[in-house]
Amino acid sequence: MADTGEPQTLCEPHASRGELISNRLLGALRPRELERLSPYLRKVDLARDTMLFDCGEDVTLTHLPCHATMVSLLVVSKEGQEVEVANVGREGAIGGIVSAGFKPAYGRAVVRVPGFAFCIPTARLEDAKSQSPILADLFARYADVLLAQMMQSAACNALHGVEQRYCRWLLSTHDRAGDEPIRLTQETLAQMMGVQRTTVTAVARALQDDGVIATGRGRIEILDRSALEKRACECHDAVEHHFQRLLPEVDTTD
Ligand SMILES: [Zn+2]
Repeated sequence: MADTGEPQTLCEPHASRGELISNRLLGALRPRELERLSPYLRKVDLARDTMLFDCGEDVTLTHLPCHATMVSLLVVSKEGQEVEVANVGREGAIGGIVSAGFKPAYGRAVVRVPGFAFCIPTARLEDAKSQSPILADLFARYADVLLAQMMQSAACNALHGVEQRYCRWLLSTHDRAGDEPIRLTQETLAQMMGVQRTTVTAVARALQDDGVIATGRGRIEILDRSALEKRACECHDAVEHHFQRLLPEVDTTD
């Protein structure tokens, strides 16, 4: 990462409005606010497993995922185990959001579903927020929903069973990726959930036997969304409801 905090992988410095608003947070901005950010936004392709920042590192870039791109925010144990506390897709942004640009990072951010995103030097975003109360307000409300997602994850891990949590994760991924198969091994999912791989495999098998999902070779396909909703805990809906209340102008539908 450059000392200046400027993006290293630049492509198409002048993105179209259509591309910009494929991140729904950017899409909620009025033209005047979008113009404040657009000179500094750079389109980047994010490969699977790319680490956007690690624990303790200075966060110099904020990423805004587009389309199906999804990034996991993870807390890493002393032994190196990564547990997911939040995931961020096209509805949001990751990097210096809750801390309002103050560094260093407490967690690690890793790309789970590859695709493109826009990135902006976090300092530039903070400058723009300081000049625009509208922009500052939108990102403050987004920081609140991101924090709510983390709070809900703490409660979810304490209260809900592995199958409910597994279904919750699939629902939030399906919200972003649609009917595209999710390319993730059960082993990675087990690690993110902080449980044994054999436990996750048994849950996946039960869901497959009931026709809810199909799995194989590091991919998971959702066959029956409504059945998945019934078997998930309330956490997905709770976070979604809070998001809709705080950010009604952000269109998360397809
Ligand atoms: Zn839950």
